Amino acid sequence: MKTLYGLPEEVVFCKKCLYSNQRPSSEIEFKHTSETKKKTMVFDEHGVCDACRFAEVKDSIDWVEREKQLIDLCNKHRKNDGSYDCIVPGSGGKDSVYAAHVLKYKYGMHPLTVTWPPIMYTDYGYRNFRNWIEIGGFDNISFNQNGRVMKTLTRLSIENLFHPFQTFILGQKNLAPKIALKYKIPLIFYGEHESEFGNPIAETQSSLRDASYHTYKNLDDLFLGGVSVRELQDNYNISLNELMTFLPPTEKEFENSNVEVTYLGYYLKWLPQESYYYAVEHSGFKARPFRTEGTYSKYLSLDDKIDDINYYTYFIKFGFGRCTEDASQEIRNKHLTRDEGKALVKKFEGEFPERYFLDVMNYIGMDPDYFRYELSDKFRSPHLWAKVNGEWKLRHTVNNDGVDDVNL
Ligand SMILES: [Zn+2]
Repeated sequence: MKTLYGLPEEVVFCKKCLYSNQRPSSEIEFKHTSETKKKTMVFDEHGVCDACRFAEVKDSIDWVEREKQLIDLCNKHRKNDGSYDCIVPGSGGKDSVYAAHVLKYKYGMHPLTVTWPPIMYTDYGYRNFRNWIEIGGFDNISFNQNGRVMKTLTRLSIENLFHPFQTFILGQKNLAPKIALKYKIPLIFYGEHESEFGNPIAETQSSLRDASYHTYKNLDDLFLGGVSVRELQDNYNISLNELMTFLPPTEKEFENSNVEVTYLGYYLKWLPQESYYYAVEHSGFKARPFRTEGTYSKYLSLDDKIDDINYYTYFIKFGFGRCTEDASQEIRNKHLTRDEGKALVKKFEGEFPERYFLDVMNYIGMDPDYFRYELSDKFRSPHLWAKVNGEWKLRHTVNNDGVDDVNL
């Protein structure tokens, strides 16, 4: 059967968590086009996904030794002359709050926090961001993007890639390295390693992020919203200067600096629930009183109105959504059983994100019905979706996959 995005034809769910083998790995966003074939989650011969295997590896890591490595790294870079010695990128979610706070108050570093603001802040997200800076006590550079260009690129990424979050991810990955070069700050700490969410496990062997994610060689190879940088200039009335904000530094610029991009999650055992409690205690972080649509959680990734819609597009393209993400993470961290997770998925997965939907459609200037029907249907892969009595149904879900819940 025909599959879109190079997804594997056979749909398989992990026997330990709820992940599907359709789950794509992180993309180099500025190379992403509608033709891009996804690399997807690796499953081993026991039917267990890489994210679960990584969770096991995490349990066997000598965290005392890793913390020593962190202390060495901090000792190497710490500056006591009044300048910054590291950057913590983030928008004030629980993970960036935790990272900045421990680096400053436990390890004696002098972080500059750097924010690429969400496309559309939620009230809760904005309050948490302010509290991070004001209660946590940090200097912060927030980069306010050119609104017209941001809007155009976000719309293009939705229309061409069904990927509402692309402009956010671009800035989240590219801004900190550029600020580091500008201010000559040698070290950048991201939080969790991408492999926690299923990038190839081999990438976790290193504390450093591969430079291909945040540098480029040739402008002609780059795409934003699935449109080439040349075409954006020729046909969309966006100048090169206006596009540069969304692009990473060049490979050359980066190589000539000594900036290291690292993950704090490599050195410290990262548990989302723990960083949440930590953020509540140290910087007045607040969960939302209501659950996020499409899932049961109240404190995960709630800064951006477009996030809920982003997860919905994920559900359309890959056949599973935010509830699977949230529950799988909690199963791996032993806060939920697989059966509890399956019940949550049955209840919440795929719920349409009504709360902010019209706000987002207004922002990008898109007809809501066009998004809901015509555009969504274009991105449904036939191997995942079937129309039954006029209604779209998933051919495979974790609740009807016939997988035995065996403990491997
Ligand atoms: Zn798994």
